[in-house]
Amino acid sequence: MSTLQDGYGRGIEYLRLSVTDRCDFRCVYCMAEDMTFLPRQQVLTLEEIQRIAALFVANGTRKIRLTGGEPLVRKGIVELCGKIAALPGLRELVMTTNGSQLVKMARPLVDAGVKRLNISLDSLDAERFRAITRVGDLRQVQAGIDAARAAGFQRIKLNTVAMKGRNADEIPDLVAYAVERGLDITFIEEMPLGDVGRSRGESYCSSDEVREIIASRYTLIDSAEQSGGPARYARLKEFPESRIGFISPHSHNFCATCNRVRLTVEGRLLLCLGHENSIDLRALLRRYPTDDQPLLDAVRAALQRKPLRHEFNLDEVQVVRFMNATGG
Ligand code: SAM
Ligand code: SF4
Repeated sequence: MSTLQDGYGRGIEYLRLSVTDRCDFRCVYCMAEDMTFLPRQQVLTLEEIQRIAALFVANGTRKIRLTGGEPLVRKGIVELCGKIAALPGLRELVMTTNGSQLVKMARPLVDAGVKRLNISLDSLDAERFRAITRVGDLRQVQAGIDAARAAGFQRIKLNTVAMKGRNADEIPDLVAYAVERGLDITFIEEMPLGDVGRSRGESYCSSDEVREIIASRYTLIDSAEQSGGPARYARLKEFPESRIGFISPHSHNFCATCNRVRLTVEGRLLLCLGHENSIDLRALLRRYPTDDQPLLDAVRAALQRKPLRHEFNLDEVQVVRFMNATGG
């Protein structure tokens, strides 16, 4: 049982840490084409990130996900993984990545103690992949997925943001790509974070629509499994070893079981993906370099203000921060 609880009695056992806002891709749903990234002094140092991780783990957090931006473009990331993975009491250290650096980094990540990976993959067509990521090279990512499979992670999951007119017609092929390799795959409904220069409603594809598309090729069997995150799962009768996940912030609100908070790379502790409420832990980290108690007091007080739920609206930008700054 977590010793960190919010005002609704939900235990906070899951911390998502953004280790950088930078990225080598510019995905259309995540960033604007011209992004300005944070100056270095506004970004937490690796030591500061490690200190926050240690504080949360000492107070009951069992799962940490490193994300970004692209976590693998941050210098020193493998060493940071090793230090966080060694924290006593942590059940698992996991990471979300775009896969572009995995050919060289998959094995060092396993050796450092990263247990599971989520790898984003929105298309199996090189041109479309380039159009969605604006700069990404599909073959490099697929080679990264192969390297991750060979490196010995406990589990690998692909993440796909489902979008009409961009990749919805590829959903059965993306499922086939995953299950034929023994991987899980999760489909995500696009969330309205940051102004990316177009209406999100145009391409919105609900999880129910994704399920219907998958059901045209496979037999879905609902499952009550949990991975400690917001996804609901199904399995395929034809490939029972893989899990098919659905993250549905619009159509099936997942807030009731929310067990997580996010730390941005600026040190803002975000209490909810869909709200701007946050506290500035960077200021406290720097004001009290050797005393964790003020940090812990601030975290506990902030958790009392964690919202009950998010309310996303497809055509309105209610949250001005982009996903890369949020730590998706
Ligand atoms: N760069 C890494 C990656 O792409 O996997 C990690 C960070 S990225 C922000 C984490 C996940 O958020 C990715 O799977 C991405 O597809 C997803 N994502 C980004 N912007 C999103 C949005 N507006 N709505 C839903 N998912 C989004
Ligand atoms: Fe980069 Fe990930 Fe955002 Fe794409 S989704 S721009 S890979 S941070």
